[in-house]
Amino acid sequence: MTNDSSCLICLRQQSTDLHTVFENELWIARHSRETNILGYIVLEPKRHFLDLAAATDEEAQTFGPIMRELVSAVKAMVKPERVYTFTLAEVVPHFHVHIVPRSDTLPRAYRGRGILSYPLQPGASEALVEGLCTAFRRRLKTSSISGAHARPV
Ligand SMILES: [Zn+2]
Repeated sequence: MTNDSSCLICLRQQSTDLHTVFENELWIARHSRETNILGYIVLEPKRHFLDLAAATDEEAQTFGPIMRELVSAVKAMVKPERVYTFTLAEVVPHFHVHIVPRSDTLPRAYRGRGILSYPLQPGASEALVEGLCTAFRRRLKTSSISGAHARPV
């Protein structure tokens, strides 16, 4: 793996992250620590690269099925009206996809492109996030992406 020692995502992957909900040899998905939105998942490759143009064939081929399972899990867990998925990589130039449930109670100003203005603080309750992560892990463990390459988290 070609990791960048100055990259926050590469550095975080070297530490234990209690909010990991899925991991295999290529990808890690975790619950976001930013914002108080429950069910906000971030999918990132283990290898440091900027965007999908730099993905290997195996990374590209596994990306779709993993995204499908993560979006399905978010829908099942938090029952949002929409699930936003986007990648920007402006703050940390390591490919990562934001998977953000949009509830029916989210103020209109934060809907659609407005989600980018949603406040980062306060964060969600640690107990609520940990409980949700446990439920995500249980669901993803029995999903189609939990094959031979999946690792227990
Ligand atoms: Zn990185």
